[in-house]
Amino acid sequence: MSAFDVAVVGAGPAGSTAAYRLASAGASVLLVDRATFPRDKPCGGGVTMRAARLLPFSLYPVVEDRVTRLECRLRYGPRFERRARQPIVLMTQRRRLDHFLLEQAAAAGADVRDGVKVTDVRPDGLTVDGEEISARIVLGADGCNGTAARALDLGGDPVHGVALEANYPYDARFAGAMVIEIAVVRGGYGWIFPKGDHVNVGVGGDASEGPRLREHLARVCREHGIDPDTATETRGYRLPMRRPGSPLARGTAAVIGDAAGLVDPFSGDGMYEGFLSAQLAAEAALRVLSGHAAGLEPYEDAVARRITPLTAAGWGAKIAFERFPRTTFGLARLPVTFRALEKLLLGEIGQPGDAHGLEKGAMRLIYAVARRAGDPGRAYRAAPA
Ligand SMILES: Cc1cc2nc3c(=O)[nH]c(=O)nc-3n(C[C@H](O)[C@H](O)[C@H](O)COP(=O)(O)OP(=O)(O)OC[C@H]3O[C@@H](n4cnc5c(N)ncnc54)[C@H](O)[C@@H]3O)c2cc1C
Repeated sequence: MSAFDVAVVGAGPAGSTAAYRLASAGASVLLVDRATFPRDKPCGGGVTMRAARLLPFSLYPVVEDRVTRLECRLRYGPRFERRARQPIVLMTQRRRLDHFLLEQAAAAGADVRDGVKVTDVRPDGLTVDGEEISARIVLGADGCNGTAARALDLGGDPVHGVALEANYPYDARFAGAMVIEIAVVRGGYGWIFPKGDHVNVGVGGDASEGPRLREHLARVCREHGIDPDTATETRGYRLPMRRPGSPLARGTAAVIGDAAGLVDPFSGDGMYEGFLSAQLAAEAALRVLSGHAAGLEPYEDAVARRITPLTAAGWGAKIAFERFPRTTFGLARLPVTFRALEKLLLGEIGQPGDAHGLEKGAMRLIYAVARRAGDPGRAYRAAPA
């Protein structure tokens, strides 16, 4: 039987960066994925600067565009545009990004096995292609359709959103810009993201919107002068959102990224949360391996400090736009609101509550609207983890 310090199931952004950090720190790491890389994953491929800045290496080799302009519209009506003082989002394609991250993990010394079948996940090991593997620590990073969370009895029962996206011919009008069509889908929005040789258009929102997503996607295209019939690689996928206090770690096992349901309820982004949860879990794992901690529970506390405030704020923004779209849009278009958003996306502040002065005032006003709308984020602030 082979033995490792850590076994990581799933080599998406969360799993590969966890494996990279652990292997770089000297742990013996097995990283397994059922897919053969390079593989794609339905995703807009927008890496916020705060996400990119978490990584100990540059994403430069796989970046296709840099966003400095944000164009926001409410239900195909009123619009505003803002320019950032530096790139706020890096545009990549998941086929390229995830392969690059997997290569970083392998170069750091992780034993990477892709195209394998994982038939059992336990707190002390895995069964991979029929081989029994023991591990002192097991991290579930196999996304929202994986099996690790259930097998480890972690992650609870996330709320799911849905999203649909497709690629369209390149159009220079969208270079360097991010177009967001707010509230065109119940509980969500539409987007246009520029890539090196195409544009990615998508729509995402509440699970109940699933049957109408194709229609919504075609409408976003038409409203922006993109021929819906030129779509290629149209794909849908789920967005998992953690419920308050659901367990993420127990003893020698933990779940990270989408397997932990850490997608932001408002933006639908999950790569920042994937990279950050990987970092926090890797730190906790190294303390266990060095004998300074008995289990991975401190990882869950770290998520409560670093990620849950964003989850709570995300639910607030989502319900505010859903229930009071015009008022919330009116607040969102204030230049001070963009300054706070820019700082958040750049990683200069960790959560909306960290804003100062007028920017803090704008955040408070949006929060007041969320409260009037019955803010589901309150349950996250009240939860122990
Ligand atoms: C349409 C759409 C658009 C999105 N756009 C953005 C965006 O622009 N920016 C952003 O930040 N986020 C975006 N997200 C969210 C983002 O895609 C996810 O949050 C992110 O992929 C989570 O990374 P992960 O590593 O946790 O999981 P994943 O990326 O899902 O990786 C999981 C890995 O586990 C593997 N796996 C699954 N089951 C098993 C198994 N049984 N055994 C072994 N391996 C297994 C899979 O093959 C996969 O490689 C979007 C999501 C959707 C659906």
